[in-house]
Order: sequence, then C-alpha cells, then structure tokens
Amino acid sequence: MSNRYDVVIVGAGTAGSYAGHLLAKNGFSVAIVERKRVDDIFKVTGDAIGSHHVESLGLGLESGVAMIHYKGADVFSPDMSVRYRVLGEGYGLDMSKWGPWLARQAVNNGATIYERRSVTAPILDNGRVAGVKVTSEDGHGESEVIGKVVIDASGATGVVRSRLPSNWLISEPLLPEDASYAYREIIEVDYDIEEPEFIKIYLDNNISPGGYWWLFPKSRNTMNIGLGIWGKLVKEKGLNPRQNYEKYLANSKYVHGRKIIHSGGGIVPTRRPLKSMVGPSILAVGDAAVAVNPVHGGGLGPALESAKLASDAVAAAFEKGDLSMKGLWSYNTSYLKVYGIKQAKLDVFRLMLQSLSDEEINKGLKARILTEDDVLEISIKGSMSIGAVRRVRAGAKLLSVPSLAVKLVTALNYMKSIGSIYERYPSDPGSIDKWSVELISKYNEYRKKLGLPMMMN
Ligand SMILES: Cc1cc2nc3c(=O)[nH]c(=O)nc-3n(C[C@H](O)[C@H](O)[C@H](O)COP(=O)(O)OP(=O)(O)OC[C@H]3O[C@@H](n4cnc5c(N)ncnc54)[C@H](O)[C@@H]3O)c2cc1C
Repeated sequence: MSNRYDVVIVGAGTAGSYAGHLLAKNGFSVAIVERKRVDDIFKVTGDAIGSHHVESLGLGLESGVAMIHYKGADVFSPDMSVRYRVLGEGYGLDMSKWGPWLARQAVNNGATIYERRSVTAPILDNGRVAGVKVTSEDGHGESEVIGKVVIDASGATGVVRSRLPSNWLISEPLLPEDASYAYREIIEVDYDIEEPEFIKIYLDNNISPGGYWWLFPKSRNTMNIGLGIWGKLVKEKGLNPRQNYEKYLANSKYVHGRKIIHSGGGIVPTRRPLKSMVGPSILAVGDAAVAVNPVHGGGLGPALESAKLASDAVAAAFEKGDLSMKGLWSYNTSYLKVYGIKQAKLDVFRLMLQSLSDEEINKGLKARILTEDDVLEISIKGSMSIGAVRRVRAGAKLLSVPSLAVKLVTALNYMKSIGSIYERYPSDPGSIDKWSVELISKYNEYRKKLGLPMMMN
C-alpha cells in the first residue's frame, strides 16, 4: 500500500471525514489516519446540530443518524423565573451512527482510512509539513504517511498543529481560559420529558460556573444531559464538571429513574479564530482549528463548514501549484467571511457573559433587556442593529444593576470594533504581524474593562 498521498488528514471525526469526502470526490488521493476503528468513531457531545448546517451543505442524513427534530431552544434564568424561547430548527444526532456514516462517505468517494493508527508528530522537511509519523494501535509498529498537504482534524488537542514550531502562527496554543470543560450522560428516565422538541439550556453559576448546563431530549424518555465549566475556573479553582454533575444533577428531578446509556466528557474550544489556520503545507479544521461557537460551544456545524472551506482552499492551491502558507491563505479569509468574524464577535460576548453573576443574569433576563429576537440576532449574526443597541442601552440604564448595563453596552461596542479588525484581516501573510498587534491591543483594552489579565500575543 502506498504511503504517499496528495492530502493526509489526521482524524476521522466530523471535520476530517467531511474534508476527506470532499477532497477524494474532487479527485485527490487522500489518506485519513484515525486512532479508532471506523465503526467505533464516536464523539462525546450534546449531539445537537442546527439543521441549516446540514442543509446548506446538502448532507442528506441517512436514516437513523438523526434521532429527533428540534424546533428551538429554551433558555432558563438561574432562579428559573424566566424562560426565553429561541426558535430554530435542529437535529439530535445518534453519534454512534453519525461518525461511521461520515467516514464511510469519505471511503466511498475514494479516500483511504488507516484505522487504529495514532499520529504522534508532524514530519517537517525544508520548512514545510511533509507528512506525519504514525504508531499502530495494533502493535504493527511505527510508520510514516507522506502528503503534499496535511490537514489537522484531530480535535481540540490539535495533535499536529500543537507540535509545530512555536513561531508558526498555526501553532497558537489553546489556553484553559479559552475553553470549556464538559461532562455529559446519555440517560433514560422514567417520566415523560416536557416538549422534547425543545432543547433546554440552564444558566447557573453554581452548577456550571462560566458555562451552562443542558438537557437535550433524544426522545420522550431519553436525554443528553450535562454541563460545561469555564476552563479558567477549572485551572484556578480545581473545579471539575463530573463532580458538579454528581453534586447537582445526578440526584435531581431531571434524571428521575436515571439509567445511564453512555457517559463521558471533553474539552470544547470557545475562543476567537486562530490568527492563522494555515502554515506551509498544513491546515487545521474543526476543533483542531478552534472552529466552535464560543457562546454555546456548538462545533459540529463549524467543523463541517471549516472542512468545506479548507477543501476548497487545498484544491485552489494545487491548481496554482503553490502549497505554501501563502498559497493556502485563502482558507483564512474565506473562513472569516463565512463564520470567523461572527465567531470573533461572539467571543467578545462570551467573555462578558462569563463576568456576570447569577443576580445580574436574573435581573437582566427578567427585565428582558435582550429580547428573544436579540438573542437570535446575536447568535445568527454576532451583532445587533443600531436601533436594538440603542434600546438595550436605554433599557440597561433603567435597571437596578448598573454593572450589567455597563458590561452589556461595553461588550456590544467591542463586538463592533473587534469585528471590524477581523474585517480588515490581511489578504496575504505579509502584514499579519501588524494586524495582530492591533487585535491584541484592542482585546487588552476590553479585557482590562472586564478585569481580566492581559493577553501577550
Ligand atoms: C461534552 C461536549 C458536548 C458538546 N455538545 C455539542 C453539541 O451539542 N453540538 C455541537 O455542535 N457541538 C458540541 N460539542 C462540540 C463538538 O463535539 C465538536 O466541536 C466537534 O465534534 C468537533 O469535530 P472535529 O471533527 O473537529 O473533532 P473530533 O470529533 O474530536 O474528531 C477528532 C478525531 O481525531 C481522532 N484523533 C485524535 N487524535 C488522533 C491522533 N493522534 N491520531 C489519529 N487520530 C486522532 C479522534 O479519534 C477523532 O475521531 C460538544 C463537545 C463536548 C466535549
């Protein structure tokens, strides 16, 4: 079997399999290296995906891959006195079918999957990534897979990009303060879940400090239930999502008659986009590229979108005969245009949300300073209309929590100014350092207002 390919993809999760499918379909020779067996590809998630992600990419879901069709999300205040109902269609997936289904589509289009092989390091040659070192999980020893281009799709650990030289932009580390640590169970309960067609999100800084806890029905009496804690608090205070689950949810009325079907946890990147998702002959997609919604942690849709945009950039780079960082740069610009600018704005909003107390959230939601439509607009566009901002400013002033008014208005202003810096993202790598200085300086201005430590780079 050949070990030389046009494209080597590390990881057959959502992003890697979809990129493999698209590139193989486009006629490239593609190898995907995956540490699990194809039939065992399974990601611990909340299992929810917005239907627009599936539909816009024309992914006709195989029967059984989606277990339930959602109509929207209910968001509850910490004191449970307020419920926001945000409409929006989605699916609750069966991840044991989703992963293998996507991987098989890549194979059906001509990709080769090396199962039970773990990538241990990138191979560097002449200042570019030339392949990966692989170790077999079946005791077949070490080997190399050589590629003209390598795509890191290994999830939040970013096994390739994190091992690249520290002065490469793509190797920017994922810090705990830019991540959420989550634990969840899939369980059966002995009661009928109310309105299973609505996912339920609960804001509560005791149960899920700096995050939220969720109950995503999978049927009338099965659910995905879990919580996420801000990584900064995990690191600084030793908090643990599983312990909080056991303490607050495992004996609650929500899990009455709990029979555990599956349990597990993971890390969710919740930050602005990487300064560059490409390097010389290397790209990152999905969680490896921190392509996740920083507010709600949804990453399945962005994993698919980033895989599509990366595949387009790879095809264009092959056509130009330029697989350098410059040749692949169009992935950065197209990603920002399609999703990244919104991601950056939502990261600004996320930092503000993480600075709020339960009292501030209760009062803010009760006063409906942000309406359901505002929440929807922010989640779709990452911004609000000028009229809506004026209304928020006026409404917030009337509140008896001036700190919330200040934080909300400050966040909306910085979403705009930081968003506009991302709109001026350089069209080639030449002026990225200058751009980066401007971005860090604006972020630090904002972080100072929230009482957060300064970012260094
Ligand atoms: C608890 C939790 C709940 C979540 N809930 C939701 C949700 O409800 N909706 C949503 O949209 N998103 C959710 N997310 C985020 C979402 O799961 C991810 O953003 C998404 O799965 C990322 O897909 P990916 O393909 O980039 O990475 P992954 O799905 O992590 O795939 C990476 C693949 O790489 C393989 N791999 C890793 N290292 C190596 C190696 N060294 N060699 C070879 N292979 C390797 C892995 O086995 C895996 O198959 C949640 C995340 C967590 C942790």
